[in-house]
Amino acid sequence: MIGPMRYISTRGQAPVRDFSSVLLAGLAEDGGLYLPESWPEFSPQQWRDLRGLPYPELAARVMAPFTAGSIAPDVLAGLCRDAYAHFDHAAIVPLTQVEDGLFVQELFHGPTLAFKDMAMQLLGRLFDHVLTQRGEHVTIVGATSGDTGSAAIEACRGRERLRVVILHPEGRTSDVQRRQMTTVLEPNVTNLAVQGTFDDCQDMVKAMFADAAFRTDMHLSAVNSINWARIAAQVPYYVYSALALGAPDREVAFAVPTGNFGNVLAAWVARQMGLPVRALCVGSNRNDILSRFLNENDMSIHGVVPSLSPSMDIQVSSNFERLLFELLDRDAEACARTMTEFRKTGRMHVPTPVWDKANALFHGVALDDDATVAEIRRLHAESQYMADPHTAIGIAAGRAFRESGIPMVAMATAHPAKFPDAMEKAIGIRPALPEALADLFDRPERYEVVAADLAAIEDRVRAAVLKNS
Ligand SMILES: *Cc1c(COP(=O)(O)O)cnc(C)c1O
Repeated sequence: MIGPMRYISTRGQAPVRDFSSVLLAGLAEDGGLYLPESWPEFSPQQWRDLRGLPYPELAARVMAPFTAGSIAPDVLAGLCRDAYAHFDHAAIVPLTQVEDGLFVQELFHGPTLAFKDMAMQLLGRLFDHVLTQRGEHVTIVGATSGDTGSAAIEACRGRERLRVVILHPEGRTSDVQRRQMTTVLEPNVTNLAVQGTFDDCQDMVKAMFADAAFRTDMHLSAVNSINWARIAAQVPYYVYSALALGAPDREVAFAVPTGNFGNVLAAWVARQMGLPVRALCVGSNRNDILSRFLNENDMSIHGVVPSLSPSMDIQVSSNFERLLFELLDRDAEACARTMTEFRKTGRMHVPTPVWDKANALFHGVALDDDATVAEIRRLHAESQYMADPHTAIGIAAGRAFRESGIPMVAMATAHPAKFPDAMEKAIGIRPALPEALADLFDRPERYEVVAADLAAIEDRVRAAVLKNS
């Protein structure tokens, strides 16, 4: 029997909550991020017992301590089975070897071809389950420049308790990315093409959440990457590959192409749970705030520059706050102070002994677009492996810190067909979309174009809620 898990905020001023409430709340009221009051630990024998389990079963067993007290284990197991039932690979998260000691774990076999499906497919089902229990509905609202929106839409489509409204900047997402959203025609899905930039979309979403009356009336909720449940749902694949490569009787290392720090944080959580993880390599593109921090203790905000790996074009990695809280020995006051100052000055002060702790485990590597293209070319030429730009950055980061005798597993976060222009530039091939999406360009689209104006957008959300209530 495991006791109920309670969650606390990194800033120490929000109510303690259980898993279901944290799932629905997303961000804590004090501006902090929720994380477990204590880390569950698996013994070496408990890890060994998970070897060879089908992925959905393993996922449920690994997540069970986090959902304890909120979701019954057999319910969780059923939700995991459903969540991964429509992936286009029997292993769900297959592992491939590309070089001596260097492996790739593919996380892009879900409906939108990016790793966000790993968590989002489960999240949609968790939301539906908890809301059904409570007799409630919510309206998921989000802004997207690409991958997150389609993963959220796929997770919510047709779910009775959910409506989803996604704002994207008109004409500024790739055709594949837009069509992955706009060809979903279920009545609970609304796509708004905003006449503006991604930042305008994000501002509109923030403004809707800040409009307290609107927020309450519309039952607004979010599934962004600070939601604890997304982190929890990303832990199992690290366990899966580690066990396959000899853990807990051998150490492993992971390399992760990183933006908001959510994916790599899940690897760190697996380590907290007792998985023998020797090193975590963080790959960035030219937006290299994390590798600057890890290499020089320089966490300062520069402007975002567009790159071949757009899902990592990020200034502030919001999930880093959870690691910071731990590095500060869970001193919530110090964490709140550091984050407030960071927000105000654009620079984070991390005392050297604290930085040293991060450095003992994490390594940072940044690749510009030329280096990314060179890496894609190298993998294709030397290992016949087609890596998308994000994945290529992760693999290069892993290679840089590979140690003999310790398998390095790099996370493949997107299917190469999602980035045909970059692939063509690197290797002269436009990879084909997998079968399930082969007719994407023949499907009818539905979206509404709307000005970047709060009143106009709130009107559209209201209409979407009315239509679905
Ligand atoms: C979101 C995303 C990332 C970054 O993941 P984080 O959890 O934000 O660090 C990397 N690659 C792809 C393809 C993504 O969609």
